[in-house]
Amino acid sequence: MSSALLGPVEVRELAERLDVSPTKKLGQNFVIDPNTVRKIVRLAGVESGDLVIEIGPGLGSLTLGITEVGADVTAIEIDSRLAAELPNTIRAMQPDAAARFRVIHTDALDLSEQHLATLPGHPTALVANLPYNVSVPILMHLLELIPQLNRGLVMVQAEVGYRIAAGPGSKEYGSPSAKAAWYGEWGIAGTVSRRVFWPVPGVDSVLVSYVKRAEPIGTEAERVRTFEIVNAAFAQRRKMIRQALQTVLGADRTVEIIEAAGIAPTARAEQLHIDDFLAIARSGQ
Ligand code: SAM
Repeated sequence: MSSALLGPVEVRELAERLDVSPTKKLGQNFVIDPNTVRKIVRLAGVESGDLVIEIGPGLGSLTLGITEVGADVTAIEIDSRLAAELPNTIRAMQPDAAARFRVIHTDALDLSEQHLATLPGHPTALVANLPYNVSVPILMHLLELIPQLNRGLVMVQAEVGYRIAAGPGSKEYGSPSAKAAWYGEWGIAGTVSRRVFWPVPGVDSVLVSYVKRAEPIGTEAERVRTFEIVNAAFAQRRKMIRQALQTVLGADRTVEIIEAAGIAPTARAEQLHIDDFLAIARSGQ
């Protein structure tokens, strides 16, 4: 079967033609293995007609896997040379997909409602091999900006992936885990060998899955307040929350607010579920 995806030879040729030397600063490790790409797309459950947002398409390795199944793809790329070439790559490799593909040249952290207004609809699925150094801020920004995202499959540095998917009581559990749980359920869908990238990264990668909650856990105002409480609690994670939360709840009322939420003031941040942080936020209103 002739593959409409990029393999190791195509990735290097394309990079050479564009005079792109992958930079560490932008987390540029490109996937060179079509099997890995198809596995990601399969695990993401992407189908024909889905509106997908991809962050950091790079040379198009994963993008072509998503367009291959008939989905509509909006790609967000910070590197101007890569962003400019992508439409050409899609047209050359999968001519039928060109009309279902667009690229927005911007930092994903600056993606805004104005950008989204130019799309055929709000994306409902996120599929991405995220730049490693900013993967958590990008995820948080997208979850906040696009509530229509109902599922996702992202490749991230293993350490970060385990932190996002962690639950209370585990050593990986921290503020990214608690905040991610506000939006939905997260899991580790698989591991990825370093050998499928060029250049080979110095860290292992995992695939992290996301499914949005059926109903929002709270309002936007409650989310903002809950995240303030999460930040304060994990800033002093070894302390009991009756001490750690004094800055956000007020020294006089901290114990009363925590107890009214049905939580022990002697608990520590790492023991609390996002529901508990929300209960504290509500009790303090
Ligand atoms: N998706 C491609 C693949 O799988 O081969 C490339 C993935 S590479 C790990 C990360 C990509 O994200 C690079 O193309 C890089 O230029 C881009 N990138 C880095 N920081 C970014 C940011 N803040 N916003 C958007 N794209 C970014």
